Amino acid sequence: MTKIYNFSAGPAMLPAAVMQKAQAEFLDWQSMGRSVMEISHRSKEYIALAETAEQDLRDLLKVPDNYKVLFAQGGGRGQFSAVPMNLQLRADSADFLLSGSWSEGALKEASKFLKTNVVGEIIMQDGLSTVPSITASQVDQKSAYFHYCSNETVEGVEINDIPDSGDVPLVVDMSSNILSQPIDVSKFGVIYAGAQKNIGPSGLSVVIVRDDLLDFAMPETPTFLHYQTMANYGSMYNTPPTYSWYLAGLVFKWLKEQGGVETIAQTNAKKAALLYQCVDESDFYLNKVHPDFRSKMNVTFHLPNADFDAAFIKESEQAGLTALKGHRNVGGMRASIYNAMPIEGVHALTEFMQDFARRHK
Ligand code: PMP
Repeated sequence: MTKIYNFSAGPAMLPAAVMQKAQAEFLDWQSMGRSVMEISHRSKEYIALAETAEQDLRDLLKVPDNYKVLFAQGGGRGQFSAVPMNLQLRADSADFLLSGSWSEGALKEASKFLKTNVVGEIIMQDGLSTVPSITASQVDQKSAYFHYCSNETVEGVEINDIPDSGDVPLVVDMSSNILSQPIDVSKFGVIYAGAQKNIGPSGLSVVIVRDDLLDFAMPETPTFLHYQTMANYGSMYNTPPTYSWYLAGLVFKWLKEQGGVETIAQTNAKKAALLYQCVDESDFYLNKVHPDFRSKMNVTFHLPNADFDAAFIKESEQAGLTALKGHRNVGGMRASIYNAMPIEGVHALTEFMQDFARRHK
């Protein structure tokens, strides 16, 4: 059977070792004669699991003590609503950097709850997408928060330099690059991420909130989205997605075994460099993102014209390379190479791309 490499943008592949462990203990977790998904989230065994997962995540990201780690529901978009609702009492406006589809989505949702200002926007310069850098003087120092998305999954645009928002809390959507490289958590007010790329299966989102921002929620905020309540209840005000949390815990352990985010960041950089090199060295493929903003997680590229797309998708699937079709808004191809994608998968893809280009020129 052909080895399958799954380049899905999300839900994305999980490490094989994690899936095998989950399979081995699927019916009988910790010799309880039951699956972990069949036990109460209030049992001492599950509470221990939840606390271990939180501690492992704290270790991996070096989360300072003055931050709460919440395991929430509602994915990335759930936080598009939860963030403005939870910070609305700080001020009735928020500032945004627009770098692609997901930051636009966050702005659209936030505008239901407060006034929104666009401080900077992605532009095309010489055919390449470029994101302006943000300094404190551009940010309204009276706004509730400043929001940006550190990795635009659709366009394949990653922002490596943390914007300077001055004293305004920085809120970041890290759904598609959390845990891919070290980050300085202390620079942020709120970090949130849907789980289904680098954390685990969908159904879960992780929110890291600085303590002083826990209690600015507008009164209408649904209780289960309220940060302070979530923190008070150890993320168990309502029944959490227990199986997703369990799998996230296995992914955190796996990541620690790999050497943590510092080590995986090196592998991620190598994987991305291989793929961009393949694109740049050919006169067949084209990436339209300025090198400073090329994503290490989602590599987007176009073929000479869209007529080649169907053949590329068909032949790549036949070669065991799945889910390479680009997002419908941008077209072309997208290879998502999150933490779980082994470098062998990237080698298999570059070999296929070179061969395809030779045959279709
Ligand atoms: N933000 C980013 C960066 C994403 O990639 C996604 C989903 N791909 C979302 C937000 C939305 O996540 P969800 O579908 O979990 O609401």
